[in-house]
Amino acid sequence: MQVQTLNVNEIRKDFPTLSKNVNNHKLVYLDNAATTQKPRHVIKAVQDYYENYNSNVHRGIHTLSEEATLQYEEAHKKVASFINAGFEEVIFTKGTTESINLLAYSLSEWLKENDEIILTEMEHHANLVPWQQLAKRKKLRLKFARIKEDYTLDMDHFKSLLNENTKIVSVCHASNVFGTINDVKKISELAHEYNALVIADSAQVISHMKIDVKDLDVDFLAFSGHKMLAPTGIGVLYGRKELLKTMQPFLFGGDMIKEVTFEESKWNDLPWKFEAGTPNISSGIGLGVAVEYLKNVGMNNIKSYTEELGKYALEKLKEVPGIELYNPEGQKTSVISFNLKGVHSHDVATLLNHEGIAIRAGHHCAMPLMNKLNLDGTSRISLYFYNTEEEIDKLVESLKKIVRLFE
Ligand code: PMP
Repeated sequence: MQVQTLNVNEIRKDFPTLSKNVNNHKLVYLDNAATTQKPRHVIKAVQDYYENYNSNVHRGIHTLSEEATLQYEEAHKKVASFINAGFEEVIFTKGTTESINLLAYSLSEWLKENDEIILTEMEHHANLVPWQQLAKRKKLRLKFARIKEDYTLDMDHFKSLLNENTKIVSVCHASNVFGTINDVKKISELAHEYNALVIADSAQVISHMKIDVKDLDVDFLAFSGHKMLAPTGIGVLYGRKELLKTMQPFLFGGDMIKEVTFEESKWNDLPWKFEAGTPNISSGIGLGVAVEYLKNVGMNNIKSYTEELGKYALEKLKEVPGIELYNPEGQKTSVISFNLKGVHSHDVATLLNHEGIAIRAGHHCAMPLMNKLNLDGTSRISLYFYNTEEEIDKLVESLKKIVRLFE
């Protein structure tokens, strides 16, 4: 491989799970699009919080609470700087799903009958079901930009869907099925000509490339911590400050208020206006540490390494007899979907698991896309910067064995 920027052997030592055995084989973890493994630094930060300064944030006037508040707020600052956003523009949520639900709820006030929302055909259910339900409630029109035969987005079709009624454009930044990366910057530019709000579901890109919300010029951007080395139960919604200021909160209660009487309430400053109740403090702190870890490795290094490994994997997989690959030709990717002729994807995943290889199989929370392509499901590998060529070789050997089994 050309990219030698990462010392993968050293990096792997930071991830305890990577040295585990599964079914008497050394684990080969190729399910990173579902969730990444966690480095010791993150695990230690969570443990440190519970062992040394476990306390609620923003409330107590005591040392432990001050420490917890400081660390939790520091984590917000680190995430904000990671995506080039302001401190007030970064809201911690449970994950991408909650971030998008928050938007579907809070933006609904600004929408009226016959307003239009544009999504794409390659959305994860998390960026489809909330809008579908909102559209039913408020009699809005939902439109889907088509995917082309090469699994990329049909930009001409997308353009043709835009009009004066378009109020929201919410698109997956990268497909969790095909690895297709959408040109969110161009989509923003086109949608803003019609004054539509642009939302990026960046769940699959945040851990793979440098994200700059100002450069992308999106209005909102959502992602999950657990897909970028952080614990589960924490995610982010970025929103432009001017918009967040005028939007209604999603959840109401403690911490999101400045003043409450029996009759009225005044909302807290951003970002706390959107973080009602006791937040997931330990995971939030863990997310801050994950961001630091990623910055130390270098997002550009991660991008080049995973792209090169993806290229290697695509070439190697072509050696498997009867394999059908579903990836945009020529596009660099770390997510690869495939099927073996005559073998159900669940059987592929089960047989690989017998050899300690973890992949994902099924509809990948994208049922409408699977239906459109007449697929039951696919097998999917998703790579990260701690994966190696040797692991790909092992996968390919195991797939060849499976093909022979079904001959
Ligand atoms: N969008 C995309 C593109 C995803 O891949 C996923 C997770 N598979 C989600 C949204 C949902 O993320 P979460 O379950 O962490 O909320």
